[in-house]
Amino acid sequence: MIYKLNGIGHDSNSYLIVGKKNILIDPGTPATFDLIRGEIEQITKNIDYIINTHCHYDHAGADYLYEEYFNAPVIICDKEVNDLKNDTNTTVSKLFGSKLIAPKEIIPINDIEITEELKFCGIEYIETPGHTAGGISLVCENSIITGDTLFAYGVGRWDFPTGNIVDLRNSIAKLEVIANQKNIIEILPGHGEKGNLSAFNNAKLFL
Ligand SMILES: [Zn+2]
Repeated sequence: MIYKLNGIGHDSNSYLIVGKKNILIDPGTPATFDLIRGEIEQITKNIDYIINTHCHYDHAGADYLYEEYFNAPVIICDKEVNDLKNDTNTTVSKLFGSKLIAPKEIIPINDIEITEELKFCGIEYIETPGHTAGGISLVCENSIITGDTLFAYGVGRWDFPTGNIVDLRNSIAKLEVIANQKNIIEILPGHGEKGNLSAFNNAKLFL
């Protein structure tokens, strides 16, 4: 079961996957910690893993708070482990007038044990660079959690550090193939409303 926890203000949406393990995707920023944590605790008291679709501050800024509260490590693409650890330009924390505090335990998503663990939970990760170089999307049930790669009515910006429009176009094309192969119904984006497969046609208007 995937719960959508709507992002507030500039914060990203968060998603909570409840199943063999409970996984929180993109916690958002510290500003909404109490609120989102409250929503989570109405569903479950236990989080096993935190996954970031990418290292941007509005998605990952509160990682450290959830890590400490739930005692759960943070997983991110291997290409962005260093960004998250050292708050590089790529996190764009300065745009939010803030500093990103790194979580203590960061595991690259291509770690063999983690990949197996996610598979066991029915989750597959797809590398979808373009919005940032280490962006990932997560396939789970009949949905794809797309971060800022693909929105219901648009695509993510490609002009931030490590962004690239050609990569973004290719990543969205890759997701469309997977969506058709796996009978995906829902697109669960990092901001705004849920989408359906028409998101792919909408995306083409922007690329
Ligand atoms: Zn982003």
